[in-house]
Amino acid sequence: MTAKQKKTLLRIIISAALLIVLRFVPVDGYLKLGLYLLPYALIGYDVLIRAVKGIISGQVFDENFLMAIATVGAMALESYSEGVEVMLFYQIGELFQSYAVGRSRRSISALMDIRPDFANVERDGDLVSVDPDEVSVGDVIIIRPGERVPLDGTVIDGESSLNTAALTGESLPRSVKAGDEVVSGSVNVSGLLKVRVSRIFEESTVSRILELVENSSLKKAKAENFITRFAHYYTPAVCLMALALAVLPPLFVGGFRQWLMRALSFLVISCPCALVISIPLTFFGGIGGASRSGILVKGGNYLEAMSEARTIVFDKTGTLTEGVFAVRQIQTAPGVDAEDLVVRAALCESYSNHPISQSLRARAEGHRLDVNRVTDVEELAGCGITARLDGQPMAVGNARLMKLLQIDVPTAQAQGTIIYVARGGKYEGMIVISDAVKATSRPALDALRKQGVKTVMLTGDSRTAAAQVADQLGIEETHAELLPQDKVDRLEDMLRNKQGAVCFVGDGINDAPVLSRADIGIAMGGVGSDAAIEAADIVLMDDDPRKISLAMRISHRCLRIVHENIAFALTVKAVCLVLGALGITGMQMAIFADVGVMILAVLNATRALTSMR
Ligand code: ADP
Ligand code: MG
Repeated sequence: MTAKQKKTLLRIIISAALLIVLRFVPVDGYLKLGLYLLPYALIGYDVLIRAVKGIISGQVFDENFLMAIATVGAMALESYSEGVEVMLFYQIGELFQSYAVGRSRRSISALMDIRPDFANVERDGDLVSVDPDEVSVGDVIIIRPGERVPLDGTVIDGESSLNTAALTGESLPRSVKAGDEVVSGSVNVSGLLKVRVSRIFEESTVSRILELVENSSLKKAKAENFITRFAHYYTPAVCLMALALAVLPPLFVGGFRQWLMRALSFLVISCPCALVISIPLTFFGGIGGASRSGILVKGGNYLEAMSEARTIVFDKTGTLTEGVFAVRQIQTAPGVDAEDLVVRAALCESYSNHPISQSLRARAEGHRLDVNRVTDVEELAGCGITARLDGQPMAVGNARLMKLLQIDVPTAQAQGTIIYVARGGKYEGMIVISDAVKATSRPALDALRKQGVKTVMLTGDSRTAAAQVADQLGIEETHAELLPQDKVDRLEDMLRNKQGAVCFVGDGINDAPVLSRADIGIAMGGVGSDAAIEAADIVLMDDDPRKISLAMRISHRCLRIVHENIAFALTVKAVCLVLGALGITGMQMAIFADVGVMILAVLNATRALTSMR
């Protein structure tokens, strides 16, 4: 509990005790009022002050105003004990609420406790701890076992395993050695690592994740906005009803005091506290619970939309497949050496981060790759690369690229993706590469289909390569040989004819436009991929497509809780309004119900925080 909460608790205890004592004090008239004003002022002074401030600033219909009017009214009608009790219950509710919200905030920041405190750098032969902010790109940092990786970088010395659970939800440690990338926020488990920093702290994974989670509450879900709007009309409406109740019936049946009391309990009931607090808390909890499983959601609106997803469109390479191609076959034109062909292709691919280029470079490992020989590199998304090698024009890419450059190539029947290589405008050979479907893809798609989702695949790869993957995974609809722009067009088609939300899942390479165009863009392999984190609405911290159906389930649970709370709170309020109007229940009952509903609703909302599998 914070100091402020402790103070409120003390006020509650003292005024409750005073209230009990006063029951046994036989006084009347002004003395009685004076005595009851003691606990009333003690428990209610802040509410009264805020109510006055609200009136001055023109924001009349807030809960402070309602509580102030109702209790002052009760005091004026000589229902002293009722006035104090209502204020007392109200404060108990407020205390509970601030405690619950504080707790869930803390538990989210605890599970997002990935912020590193320091980085070890070598200065003049000594190891010193500095603020991660002070380290620049290219600096070498030392990460001892048990320490958190403070900045993104590449291992230059040492071997260890990293625990990335806080980032990806994946409990299996990842082993790293010299040459491997490490991401900030993970924990070095076993060995000493020397790491060359590749990104300053502000741009490192950990900072971006924290920023994303902290900003997520700004993007409100429809349900949240609904409640704000609802409260906007509901509160004044109930106030009007209260006024009518106070004025109209007495004109006909008399009993002014009694009707005024009923009207005041209307005001108490009109407080929409339970909803106003529990709904944002639910989304907050849902987002927090999701991030614990390695799913970063950029806002309550996206979490909400996830439950409406009916079509999920996948990119192929790197999303459904490993994105790691192996060279299967090399065919060359007469007089061309296969190894030379690979080296030339790899050289042209030097600057690309496409999975294909990485695999070609991997295949050429062991050969000397002098990048100074390569100039004028141009990457044509969805086609391949053109460049100059030792001054000669080169082209490395698919049939589309060759057609574009009007280079004749032999037709090939091969299992996999064919990369043609041409030099000086002439076909030199082809490299057949193939990629493996992720082991997790099939279960992921099966789970989605069970949730009533249609699966679609869009790819820039050839029809044969696409059909192979689609068969293996049972994908309902496949479109192949698409340029990035074609992918956007296909998606637009689907958005026009959609039922429910359309979601696009990609790895961020060549598909940022589609990611941002979809109702919900989901990026895979968020760790380290800048474009993906920027363009997507949801980022999966590891490459596991099964997280998509998990995100849907989290979303469903969140909305179920929200709906439960709305239905529950409105029902109780409606019942209280009727009973209050009939004079069956009084003001205490109204506040009791209100605080009770709020406590139950908040407890229900905190269920969203627990993680799901
Ligand atoms: P996907 O939609 O499967 O992710 P891309 O749009 O990234 O595929 O690429 C589509 C096709 O374009 C690839 O299958 C390949 O034939 C060709 N291509 C793209 N980039 C390159 C590259 N850097 N080198 C060679 N070929 C490439
Ligand atoms: Mg791709």
